[in-house]
Amino acid sequence: MKQQPGPTTEAPEAQAPAEASSTTLEQKRVVNTEIPGPRSRELHEHRKANVPNGFGITLPVFMEAADGGILRDVDGNQLIDMASGIAVTSVGANHPAVVAAIKAQADKFTHTCFMVTEYELFPKVCERLNAIAPGEHEKRTALFTTGAEAIENAVKIARSFTGRSEVIVFDHAYHGRTLFTLGMTAKEAPYKTGFAPFPEHIHRAPYAYPLHWRTGAENAASEALAAFEALIQRIGPDKVAAAVLEPIQGEGGFIVPADGFMAGVREITKKYGIVMVADEVQAGMGRTGKMLAIEHEGVIPDLVCTAKALAGGMPLSAVTGRADIMEVVGAGGLGGTYAGNPLACAAALAVLDELEKDDTLLARARRIEEIIRQELQPLVSQQGVVAEVRGRGAMMALEICHPGTNEPDAPTTKEIASACHAQGVVVLTCGTHSNVLRLLPPLVIEDELLIDGLRVIAEAIQGVS
Ligand SMILES: *Cc1c(COP(=O)(O)O)cnc(C)c1O
Repeated sequence: MKQQPGPTTEAPEAQAPAEASSTTLEQKRVVNTEIPGPRSRELHEHRKANVPNGFGITLPVFMEAADGGILRDVDGNQLIDMASGIAVTSVGANHPAVVAAIKAQADKFTHTCFMVTEYELFPKVCERLNAIAPGEHEKRTALFTTGAEAIENAVKIARSFTGRSEVIVFDHAYHGRTLFTLGMTAKEAPYKTGFAPFPEHIHRAPYAYPLHWRTGAENAASEALAAFEALIQRIGPDKVAAAVLEPIQGEGGFIVPADGFMAGVREITKKYGIVMVADEVQAGMGRTGKMLAIEHEGVIPDLVCTAKALAGGMPLSAVTGRADIMEVVGAGGLGGTYAGNPLACAAALAVLDELEKDDTLLARARRIEEIIRQELQPLVSQQGVVAEVRGRGAMMALEICHPGTNEPDAPTTKEIASACHAQGVVVLTCGTHSNVLRLLPPLVIEDELLIDGLRVIAEAIQGVS
């Protein structure tokens, strides 16, 4: 990326064309102070006096600018972004085309509510998503605001279509924090602690997690599918409305399911008339090197939920799927005050243009996987703490276990993450047992910066091994 002269405060018309790089921050890690620095510490005290502690924090550092693969904090440190605000800023946090689209729309109007009066941007986004979702059948898309809202609406639509009540989800699943999606989410602490009782009619099946499958990775797909079908039989096939699952599990540990598992879920759901919902909220929109992660499996789900990277940081989510299913809900049954907000739709169209342009960003995701494997695969050993490097595209993870075993080691994972943070690399952890280090760099991160970040991670791991 090239340096752009001056700040990006011109009118939208004067914005750099989408092809040009937006880079305004030097793509270089800079650590001037302790992290968090003195100004961040001060601001964090102010936050503590005003914001409840329930909002956890990975790294209490306040940002003043973000660009490409860099987050610059209020103390002048430049951190390498391996989080993308949890898989959101795939095209970067200030992409000129996205910024220009938001500014141009803000000059026209910010809101009408699509259920009151219409605007063209909404169906335009839907048309694009209908074309992206797998399958040649006719499709419709409903826009919402958050990922959890998309999942809840997918369940509503599936219940309405099937006239059935029960929902099947999987071990390690994460579907959101609203009460119904929290019931669907697997991990207890911190997400569910203190919030019971959860909604009923939710059932959990095993997910084909190769590394931890008791009888060996080679049996994961077939045994998980047998358990899934047995669960359907136990509930009663004519009661199950939907099976909801992530094509690569996110918060649950960046788990790529065993080969054949997704295809098997498709076959079984088809057999019993169950709506298959792919939760692509984290893995979708180019993150894995394909527009949707389910494309790696050659599977056509009935409904697809997208959000996070869809609108480059603006809140927007979608349910896309078979027209015959989507059209079953009566007028007024779907919606939301902010659903498909015009600024978010304008941003989404710009993001989609970027993602679909010559495959460049999808190729970047695949290149990021190559670099990560090249740098971090050598750390996997019987004597070391890295049990596995896994993932697809720019959604990669290291599972940290006690050496020579598959026993999760959460304290060491935390120690590695803290060491990275201190050196100016923003990494996240995840996993049911909090022992997975996950890497979600923006797709626009430069090779050199990425490699610098990965070497910091490798050093941190060697430091604890
Ligand atoms: C983040 C996430 C959600 C919830 O999205 P929100 O926008 O936070 O409500 C749902 N499913 C998956 C897989 C996610 O990663």
